[in-house]
Amino acid sequence: MTTKISPLESFRTTLKEVGGKMNLRKDVIEILSYPQRVIDAYIPVEMDNGSMRIFHGYRAQHQNARGPYKGGIRFHPDVDEQEVQALAALMTMKTAVVDIPFGGAKGGVALNPMELSDKELQRLTRAFVQTLGEAIGPNIDVPAPDVNTNGQIMAWAADEYSRLHQGAPHVEATFTGKPVSVGGSLGREEATGYGGILVLLNYLRRKNIAKDGLKVAVQGFGNVGSHFARFADKNGMHVVAVSDSRGGVFNADGHDIEALYGGQKKAGHLEQNVCYPRIGVAEAGQKASECLPLTNAELLELPVDILVPAALENQITAENAEKIQAKIIIEMANGPITPEADAILAKRGIVVIPDILANAGGVTVSYYEWVQNLQNLYWTKEEVNSRLEQKMAKSAGDVFDIAEKENVTNREAAYRIALARVQEAMVLKGWVPAQVKA
Ligand code: NAD
Repeated sequence: MTTKISPLESFRTTLKEVGGKMNLRKDVIEILSYPQRVIDAYIPVEMDNGSMRIFHGYRAQHQNARGPYKGGIRFHPDVDEQEVQALAALMTMKTAVVDIPFGGAKGGVALNPMELSDKELQRLTRAFVQTLGEAIGPNIDVPAPDVNTNGQIMAWAADEYSRLHQGAPHVEATFTGKPVSVGGSLGREEATGYGGILVLLNYLRRKNIAKDGLKVAVQGFGNVGSHFARFADKNGMHVVAVSDSRGGVFNADGHDIEALYGGQKKAGHLEQNVCYPRIGVAEAGQKASECLPLTNAELLELPVDILVPAALENQITAENAEKIQAKIIIEMANGPITPEADAILAKRGIVVIPDILANAGGVTVSYYEWVQNLQNLYWTKEEVNSRLEQKMAKSAGDVFDIAEKENVTNREAAYRIALARVQEAMVLKGWVPAQVKA
């Protein structure tokens, strides 16, 4: 049994399996196995010491049958062409599951952002936008933040795009996830985490599982993981473990997540050596448990109710799937479970809520940001959140209904919905013949 499966192979395996079971057209399966275009760029950037360094970046545009390409840009040393292709394909599935008028794309630059100054990061971001040239635009391809990119990077990127296209309408709609003061949407920063909690609560209600006191472990306390943890905490769950790339911290009673989040903001990284016991434990006259360091591998195998991978791909593989003790896994990261591990988890009765539904709150509010930019009319946070709540309730309901009725996994149900929508658009547009001759 091999665990060295690439995220692209994982996507293709799921595509073939689900596509085959639902009688998806073979030509559609073949088309969706590949991106429509990949931009492979070598980007020269002047470093602070006057030297030049060449960075390798990519933008994979997987599919635009349902609307402009949409997907994040990641800065990480492991970025490569296969990874962005896989993540772009997941975006096509995700935008279709939540039924927003976009296709799928993903970009990335292979680098460790810790090694670059802010000025170097800004020059790199601007150079990447110049390289992407006419391949992006409000009606062509709309990038957003992902791992190690954030609102500041989107603000530089949007500014560079508007300099290059002075006078063009709605240039700010080319990037989403911007800070609110430069055309971003209220609610976007926490939207992925909030969307995930909405989906999880929807599932728990359906299955009559009480949320209070559920033990939660979150791998990756970045944008997605930290906001998910904060909403879980607000909903009465006990977040007992969190981690970042250096490792994690465990407290059997749960952490005081707001204090931990504040500490991370101040320190610039997760504080593994500072203990923030959950409020209420000491007040109830109990002795607060101590905080213990733990590795990312240990975090995944904790005896918790809910496991939340919110970092990178391929974290749960055939090697550790048998050791997972959580009852429910909600994939807030993209592609954290390999297909082999998925099969093992399904056999063991562990419920997986798939990435293309669980983390779709981010792209949904990116869509709302794009709509607000196009009409130059800005919504209140309540309006954004109320639209997001309706969207996630409908999408989660559709997926869980199919999973129950057809007795299939949540992942298969989500793919069935997405694939049917993408195929329908391709047929209607005449991209594949309406009838295939036998
Ligand atoms: P981020 O850069 O804000 O945070 C990533 C976190 O993961 C950091 O805490 C980092 O230290 C940690 N990490 C990195 N490598 C790790 C490792 N090997 N083990 C454990 N932790 C590790 O990124 P993010 O935006 O929160 O994205 C996290 C995941 O969510 C990615 O899979 C991304 O594609 C997905 N996602 C993000 C968004 C979004 O809106 N930002 C939307 C949908 C999906």
